[in-house]
Amino acid sequence: MSAQSPSAQPLVSMRGIVKRFGDNVVLDGVDLDVFPGEVVVLIGPSGAGKSTLLRCINGLERISEGTITIDGDELTYAEGTINRIRSRIGMVFQSFNLFPHMTVASNIMMAQRDVLGRSAKEARSRALELLDRVGLVDKADAYPESLSGGQQQRVAIARALAMDPAVMLFDEPTSALDPELVGEVLHVMRELATAGMTMVVVTHEMRFARRAADRVVLMADRQIVEQGTPKEVLEHPSSERGQAFLRQLS
Ligand code: ADP
Ligand code: MG
Repeated sequence: MSAQSPSAQPLVSMRGIVKRFGDNVVLDGVDLDVFPGEVVVLIGPSGAGKSTLLRCINGLERISEGTITIDGDELTYAEGTINRIRSRIGMVFQSFNLFPHMTVASNIMMAQRDVLGRSAKEARSRALELLDRVGLVDKADAYPESLSGGQQQRVAIARALAMDPAVMLFDEPTSALDPELVGEVLHVMRELATAGMTMVVVTHEMRFARRAADRVVLMADRQIVEQGTPKEVLEHPSSERGQAFLRQLS
């Protein structure tokens, strides 16, 4: 799954990241590399800074200190740079945020046309290809409200993939779903991982972490407190905070 090798250049590289909201320090010296093809699962208690970390990667939040490099391109907040970098990063949130007045296919076509300048024909053909991949090609001309939450989230994943991102970020993509709909979304994510997509996934689904992660990163109190293989981190956490977090999960 992982194309990681000592010589590979990280696709995402974060160094000395500090993020403050006013006087409140939310990230305090985070270093993180994500290598091409790697699946990194980010876990940790609520308020640890996981969402903020993801939002910093695609520039939705501005870092206070440190540097972020995406595929060798340093993230600055100049409009040209941030748009170029954002177009290389797909993001999937807890809430699916599909446009309710547009069909499923149109939702997936819009940014392809506006941002990538693809023709309607090209954009639709890519949309159908991706809908097929997430098992929803028969829903292309349906409206989001007629879909279940799990189906809507699969459409949101297809919409992010339509931009041909270098890396996909997921922020608790199954947390808003009824339990019986979680599996179909995780299944799509596992297939993406197997196909070699570079992914950073914030989730509380420990089975997903165990099965799909190349590396589990545990955050607590504004910092990365532990990282390693799923087995290392989930079964033999070495830090006190890691042990405490995992104890309260079981
Ligand atoms: P997690 O995703 O791990 O639960 P978050 O990154 O959402 O954690 O939040 C980390 C901390 O940052 C929390 O204390 C939260 O209240 C604070 N925070 C997040 N976003 C903002 C914001 N826009 N303004 C002020 N504080 C924020
Ligand atoms: Mg969060």
